[in-house]
Amino acid sequence: MSKKLLLKNAHVEGIGKFEVYRQHEGYQAAEKALKMSPEEILEEVKTSGLRGRGGAGFPTGLKWSFLAKPEGVPRHLVVNADESEPGTFKDRYLMEVLPHLLIEGMIISSYCLGSNTSFIYIRGEYAWIPDILEEAIAEARAAGFLGKNILGSGFDLDIYVQRGAGAYICGEETALLESLEGKRGNPRLKPPFPAVKGLWERPTVVNNVESIAAVVPIIGISGAEYAKIGMGKSTGTKLISACGNINKPGVYEIDMTMTVEDFIFSEEYCGGIPNHKAFKACIPGGSSVPILPANLMLKTSKGEPRYMNYESLSEGGFATGTMMGSGGFIVLDEDQCVVEHTMTLARFYNHESCGQCTPCREGTGWMYKILRKIENGEGSLRDIDLLWDIQRRVEGNTICPLGDAAAWPVASAIRHFRDEFEWHVKNRELCRKQNYGLGKYADPITVN
Ligand code: SF4
Repeated sequence: MSKKLLLKNAHVEGIGKFEVYRQHEGYQAAEKALKMSPEEILEEVKTSGLRGRGGAGFPTGLKWSFLAKPEGVPRHLVVNADESEPGTFKDRYLMEVLPHLLIEGMIISSYCLGSNTSFIYIRGEYAWIPDILEEAIAEARAAGFLGKNILGSGFDLDIYVQRGAGAYICGEETALLESLEGKRGNPRLKPPFPAVKGLWERPTVVNNVESIAAVVPIIGISGAEYAKIGMGKSTGTKLISACGNINKPGVYEIDMTMTVEDFIFSEEYCGGIPNHKAFKACIPGGSSVPILPANLMLKTSKGEPRYMNYESLSEGGFATGTMMGSGGFIVLDEDQCVVEHTMTLARFYNHESCGQCTPCREGTGWMYKILRKIENGEGSLRDIDLLWDIQRRVEGNTICPLGDAAAWPVASAIRHFRDEFEWHVKNRELCRKQNYGLGKYADPITVN
């Protein structure tokens, strides 16, 4: 049984309402925090070892410590709720079920950072959630946890919810800030980083929903106790949204000491693969992290069990490892076609590229076209090499991480499933018959 910190009360009926949340220790951490100094809170967050839960895994306390504090300039906390990575839906669940946990985390974090005006930037497709958050904000305000002089502490805080218009790129923190300022969501060149020049050129911290919610139990039980949960530098608990070919898709809270095998096959979590099919591959951290075949997903290259945490998942680098990413855990069974799957992802990243930098703008489209050509039985062995070459030229050569996010799925698919790509080339007639015959990807395309 994994320890639960964030979802421990998720099953309680009406937990989304202030009164019920309050009856279950709600806002006690905020009361405690407002009696501490901002420096003491920062130390607790540093001690906890909390790593950003949005994907990069950067230490949250360290990120907060970078925040510039020029005299007389307002600072801001912006919560990144633009959860758009395919396969990732844990923040949606958290905001739907436990909106007050996020609000409480924002009160503590805003107080620590010195932000009197904080924001939640939420993706446009989560159309119903802003109402849930607005209601929770109104309840918290009515109870004296938001507004002027919260609980007599002298600290003022207003929280605003801003809806995005449905662009994946607005999950990148500087694109998010551009959008929040009312502009087109194009990523900014860095430096300067948001900690120095963020929202309206003011010092800003942008953190993921789950990261900010995790601050509540950190203050509740102390950073030192939080750090005892988990393994190595993967402290505390992590929300995983599991989907694909599993019996029990959903959002799970794990303490990062669990093996991948237990997570996929135990009844308490994913419940195994439907119809007793074989486990073929997995993308454990949202669609942009490298896909691994089952053998490498269950065991590291050293033959040790693979664990559901940052270090273990990345063991071996990209040669034999992958990444924890956002915790969007996608399982593929033996019937799934890796080429088709990679093509679908390539189409997504091509569609979502903002077009500012050439390797991303041109490379994502080129990769999609070649993958589609191979999937449709029109590819050659040379196309596989070309695909490899293009992804290599995209990775690391773009303004923001979308270029890498588009390149890694392609690179890992070729690295681990090259035989499947070659099968498509060698069985062209069958691929054509299947795709055109079924009306899938019906229009043949030409790539020069
Ligand atoms: Fe835009 Fe892609 Fe460049 Fe990011 S990497 S700034 S999405 S073109």
